[in-house]
Amino acid sequence: MVGWRDAHGMDKDSGCLKVRLLKGHIAVRATTALNTLLDLRGVTVSSVSFESDRVTVGVRLRRKRLLCPEPGCGYSTRWRADTRPADSWWRSLDMGAWKVIVTARLRRLRCPDHGVVVEVVPFARHRVRFTCDFEDLVAWCASKTDKTAVCRLLRVAWPTVGAIVERVVADGLDADRLDGLYDIGVDEISWQKHHHYLTVVVDHASGDVVWTGEGKDTAALDRFFAELGPRRAAQLRAVSMDMGKAYPKSVAKHDHAPQAEICWDPFHVVAMGTKALDVVRRAHWNQLRAAADKAVARRFKGARWALLRNPEDLTDRQADSLAAIRRSGGAVWRAYKGKEALRAVFAGDLPDSEVIILLDRWCGWAQRSRLPSFVTLGRTIRAHRDGILAAIRLGLSNGRVEGRNATIRLLTRRAYGFHSAAAAGALVMLVCGPITLRLPHEK
Ligand SMILES: [Zn+2]
Repeated sequence: MVGWRDAHGMDKDSGCLKVRLLKGHIAVRATTALNTLLDLRGVTVSSVSFESDRVTVGVRLRRKRLLCPEPGCGYSTRWRADTRPADSWWRSLDMGAWKVIVTARLRRLRCPDHGVVVEVVPFARHRVRFTCDFEDLVAWCASKTDKTAVCRLLRVAWPTVGAIVERVVADGLDADRLDGLYDIGVDEISWQKHHHYLTVVVDHASGDVVWTGEGKDTAALDRFFAELGPRRAAQLRAVSMDMGKAYPKSVAKHDHAPQAEICWDPFHVVAMGTKALDVVRRAHWNQLRAAADKAVARRFKGARWALLRNPEDLTDRQADSLAAIRRSGGAVWRAYKGKEALRAVFAGDLPDSEVIILLDRWCGWAQRSRLPSFVTLGRTIRAHRDGILAAIRLGLSNGRVEGRNATIRLLTRRAYGFHSAAAAGALVMLVCGPITLRLPHEK
């Protein structure tokens, strides 16, 4: 008994050995638990210190070989060039109110291709100050909720969220997503004010967004075809899109997909009908404003949504204003009926043959309507008739496509404030693309 005490250098009376042993035991248990908790693969926790707002966890890499961090390099060596003079640090998953900071002293190696570089760590991406788990959590939250909630919950700036989403998507995206494309849809979506646009490519078969790129011109779609390659492009049967001149030019290039049928999305046609109605409405409102009766003008201004929304979605008050417009008749009411008739043509409940008859009849009506915006629209629809009917024949326009478009528009609005179109595109891919995002505890 005495020997045991002597060996551990315990003062006979103080009993401090017990305390010291207990402390050591707690420390060992804590570091093991932390290692499990933080899921820091391939490291040993060597120290833990608590401050008012953070827990700093010092770790040592277990692996003996040093790995080159450059993507695709894979060079490893047992020989180190030197050790960095200071600890590197990463933000990991929070513990309650505490931020968790992981620190490690990294070594440097001499890669034959990349020179002297800092070794890669198994729990974080190269040159990134967050662990992979933390980044996965941020990306998951960004895909589910708005900017304010993400930034407040996770204590990160919104542009940082954009950069994280980009990295997570680059790593997690299905590399084969451009294989076996047959029918695709191309759409332009604004992701920021002042004419910043994204080109979004959707696979009609799976409903997945398979590609996003900056811009909305021919060059933007050219970049998609460059990635797709001529072999896969030759398999495309149809490309559906909004009526514009830029995208068809790219599709028709000889090494792109000249064989593919160009289809015009009917829901874009319906949206053009709504726009034509809005032109008539605004002209009428300006007339009323110019006239003496300001009260009538104000009442009519309030009727905007009554006219532009689908009648089945109207509130009681909007339904009342719509009824008032019907009673007064005139150009606005005629335009409204025209827009609703166009919507009915593409409601999706008619056989193809009837759609053809009704669409031609509608164009005839538009031509005679004496409403300039509708005359123009009728002419546009006539010029694009074959492509519109092709979209219906091939089944490329349906509620699902429209619903996904609405989702993408919501996402790009959330991406306002991201630093780049690539980040906005990554957020779209994160939610609508072929990617499975797992939370840290689901891995
Ligand atoms: Zn290398």
